[in-house]
Amino acid sequence: MASYDLRCTDCAHDFEVFVQGFLREDHKVCPDCGSRRVEQRFTGFLMGSGGGNAPPMGGGGCSHGGFG
Ligand SMILES: [Zn+2]
Repeated sequence: MASYDLRCTDCAHDFEVFVQGFLREDHKVCPDCGSRRVEQRFTGFLMGSGGGNAPPMGGGGCSHGGFG
């Protein structure tokens, strides 16, 4: 799944589409005015990877012999 940020050049409406695969001309339609004069702003792939337990950063809690 990838998200594409598009902007309508007719009404300057910014919208985002989620497509599975590459962006096609069929997706480049303004939902506001229905114009097909849509330009792609930038592409951002959703990172679904990851998982696992990340170790907590730092120790924290009570510490003996602290400053102050
Ligand atoms: Zn539009």
